[in-house]
Amino acid sequence: MSEATAEALTSPPPAGDPAARAVGLGKVYGEGETQVTALGSVDVDFEVGRFTAIMGPSGSGKSTLMHCMAGLDSASAGKVFIGDSDLTTMKDNDLTKLRRERMGFVFQAFNLVPTLTAEENITLPLDIAGKKVDQEWFDLVVGTVGLADRLTHRPSELSGGQQQRVACARAMATRPDIIFADEPTGNLDSRSGAEVLGFLRRSVDEFGQTIVMVTHDAHAAAYADRVVFLADGELVDELLDPDAPAILERMMTFEQAAGAHGAVGAQPVATSAPAAPAAEPEAPAQDSHDPETEQG
Ligand code: ADP
Repeated sequence: MSEATAEALTSPPPAGDPAARAVGLGKVYGEGETQVTALGSVDVDFEVGRFTAIMGPSGSGKSTLMHCMAGLDSASAGKVFIGDSDLTTMKDNDLTKLRRERMGFVFQAFNLVPTLTAEENITLPLDIAGKKVDQEWFDLVVGTVGLADRLTHRPSELSGGQQQRVACARAMATRPDIIFADEPTGNLDSRSGAEVLGFLRRSVDEFGQTIVMVTHDAHAAAYADRVVFLADGELVDELLDPDAPAILERMMTFEQAAGAHGAVGAQPVATSAPAAPAAEPEAPAQDSHDPETEQG
């Protein structure tokens, strides 16, 4: 690896610069008659030290945008940068290293390793990267998420909210340049959801963390500094210092427009605090993500 590449993999971008950005980002799935344009041509910056929410009707391209930004999916057109590293031209090994060292991930389904304790789950990305645990940082993060007395517990011995706080602490363990959170409160009752969002907010305010979060919940998005709105694979609007009523009003406009085009699915915008599932999941739900791969 060249020195320039090594430098690019380790230097965080300065405050005020974009931590991540997409330039003319397009994504097409399939071919011929089954071809779907998930992203048309998206230009967006995610600034260092800010909490940005991505919203939009179901099928508008939110997950695709996040997956392309995080190097979990490839772009069909345009470019994606983390700092000044261009993901679209990067070799697989460099991309894996970049994701491992500079990105953190939080998913709806927690994706903890069931056989590991909370502490082992939190330090897993460091273990995979062969890095030593910075005890001071570990203690600070664990204290902030309120897990100090739960470190020896396995995921099945933790509530859904506690599991997601472990996942947040895991995402922060490597002090990443950017954390991508995909519907992080989607499996949580409103109180646990608020705790997780409160932690994400604090990590931005107190540690200068950069966070990009996909959500369809206006109350969750209201924790962000900025909300960007997608519709039909295009970035169509944004709100700064948003509150839930303003987000809801904006979302209603896009829902109605999408409904008029008959273009999107049936996922409604959440009009109240995150809905409580019948019970908090006792164990991480399965989904298509592989935590090994996702942690790099
Ligand atoms: P959102 O997260 O806003 O609900 P997605 O990014 O999941 O939207 O999807 C955007 C569009 O791309 C949708 O029409 C969806 O059906 C399509 N899509 C997403 N992933 C795939 C895939 N792996 N294969 C084919 N089409 C996909």
